[in-house]
Amino acid sequence: MPLPLLFAVALAAPGDTVLRNSAGSLLHWDSMPISYQADTENSAGLDQESALSAIVSASGAWTEVQGVGVDYRFRGTQTGLHGGYDQQNVVFFVDEWGGSADLLALTSTWSTDDGTIKDFDMAVNVDNHDWSLAGEPGLDDLQNALTHEFGHALGLGHDELHHEATMYPTAGVGEVDKRDLSQYDVDVAAWLYPASEASEDSGAGPPSSGCDAVGLPSLGAVLPAALLLFRRRKEVP
Ligand SMILES: [Zn+2]
Repeated sequence: MPLPLLFAVALAAPGDTVLRNSAGSLLHWDSMPISYQADTENSAGLDQESALSAIVSASGAWTEVQGVGVDYRFRGTQTGLHGGYDQQNVVFFVDEWGGSADLLALTSTWSTDDGTIKDFDMAVNVDNHDWSLAGEPGLDDLQNALTHEFGHALGLGHDELHHEATMYPTAGVGEVDKRDLSQYDVDVAAWLYPASEASEDSGAGPPSSGCDAVGLPSLGAVLPAALLLFRRRKEVP
């Protein structure tokens, strides 16, 4: 589909809990459900079925919330999934992480200049981190981290004011608190996605570009880079 796309600019200002793209538009999905696939193959020895369960539970945290019109739908596993703009929403594990080792996971979103999200990709860093599927001490809990990342995929940014928020920017090893949304997360999600409008289409179609290329558009509207980060909490002495 010919669309000018803008890569999401991460890191909202402190206190700002929604994301805007580089055109200044609020990131949002204009229709539900949000379908995604997962590639659970990993070199970390994580049981794939259990990892998948953690992924689905993480998206489910945003789906079954009163007053919030978000509906994530898992559409199956597939091997060889990777990032990039292809209008496939995917969750996958990265065995050779090219970025900062501090990052637990990274969610990229692609949106039109009006902020309509067209694609998200969620990468889990199994290169630099040891993961747990059960909140074990000393390990990073997968569901904990991914619940946070599924918030980013909705267009939510970091809530730096509330430690108890799922969208708080850091997590500690063994932490499972982010598996469950705080009221702060619910409030932001409900603001972006009021339940009564969950099934309505905005009617505002994406702007046309005349570009018929598959994948990345050729119009120069794509501004690459800018990542959504999820850092490990630094221990305070
Ligand atoms: Zn984050």
